[in-house]
Amino acid sequence: MSLLEDICIEKGMRMTDQRRVIARVLSEAEDHPDVEEVYRRASSIDDRISIATVYRTVRLFEDAGILERHDFRDGRSRYEQVSEEHHDHLINLHTGEVVEFRNEQIEQLQERIARELGFKLVDHRLELYAVPLPDGES
Ligand SMILES: [Zn+2]
Repeated sequence: MSLLEDICIEKGMRMTDQRRVIARVLSEAEDHPDVEEVYRRASSIDDRISIATVYRTVRLFEDAGILERHDFRDGRSRYEQVSEEHHDHLINLHTGEVVEFRNEQIEQLQERIARELGFKLVDHRLELYAVPLPDGES
């Protein structure tokens, strides 16, 4: 059973076969697929799955707080399973590739900024939009 499916059941969600397949696809994704891509992968496992079902299911998972939606400015919502380990994203503007990273200095700096403004930081999102360095500059 996939982790996502496990969480769905824990939350008392009714898991149909199609939801199960979609949960598995999302759980196994190491990139940040959009709905069309999730549909491609899910329908290759079970060809009865329609894009409408994928949209509905993704929305359901998102509303349940087990799926995170990202907008990486390419006009498509991308999804990833909510992880316990926080990370941020760098988007390669040439290829659209999404690179995950975590930087303790940034994490601490953000907390400090919030504190200095009189707040306790509870969450944040950071996206870096970047192009590859020319050869020899890295
Ligand atoms: Zn990510």
